[in-house]
Amino acid sequence: MDQILEHLRRTAEEFTAEASDSRRPSWAPALLVSEEFLQLAREFGGLSTDDKPVVRLWANFADPKRVGTALRQEVGLTLPGIRCRGFALHAGTRRHGVKLFFARRGENGNWETGPTGLYQYSNPEELHLRRECRNCLHSIESYRQWIEDSAVPQPNLEAELERVRAEYAELKSQLQALEAEREARNQRRTRLLELARARVIEFGGGGDAPMMEQMTAGARVTVSCCICGAQLTDPVSVEYGIGPICRSKRAVAIKAWVASRTVELQEHRHVA
Ligand SMILES: [Zn+2]
Repeated sequence: MDQILEHLRRTAEEFTAEASDSRRPSWAPALLVSEEFLQLAREFGGLSTDDKPVVRLWANFADPKRVGTALRQEVGLTLPGIRCRGFALHAGTRRHGVKLFFARRGENGNWETGPTGLYQYSNPEELHLRRECRNCLHSIESYRQWIEDSAVPQPNLEAELERVRAEYAELKSQLQALEAEREARNQRRTRLLELARARVIEFGGGGDAPMMEQMTAGARVTVSCCICGAQLTDPVSVEYGIGPICRSKRAVAIKAWVASRTVELQEHRHVA
């Protein structure tokens, strides 16, 4: 995982290398995801049906002014150093809603990733039922004691005991249904987090060409440049998945992708 995240970090820094050095750069490629992922993201990830069916991996950058100053002071470097400090995966094109995956780079170069656990949620109905069940059990126990301790038969108490037993059985089955539902929800949540992590690994673990392939596929769906996020306004840029300014960037991965796409598009036009 660390290796993949380091690769993504270097990519993020390379793609934003030509960005202004006074502003925080931005890189947040949109990625296509499976139908299962989409459904779960709609259920738990804050993705609405109006949102584009993508997730975006947002790179977090340190403030360039502060990084530069700190490094110059501490290490005597004029280079900006490690600028990308982490990533966050969110459903949809905007950066709100549930964080499906995050990674933070520590000072020693190790990565911390998450979220690891489930989001806890308390269900008031479940708590209420659990309390009611406890009350029933107390009543059942009291009635039994009274009946047992009584010297004469107690038909009223016995009838009441039966009533409370039936009530308890009903409440218990309602509670079990809610617990099963919660368990199933938790499993689906866990599955969503697994899919999110796996998507990051798939994206960052395959080398430059597959990475560009995935980024530009996402860009064609969101109609925005996979490098800078700007809206793509002409059909050629949409075909590339990269806007005209970013197509001329010096990053090796971008140059190689643009070159291979150019050949492909020319051949395509030739055949057509
Ligand atoms: Zn761009």
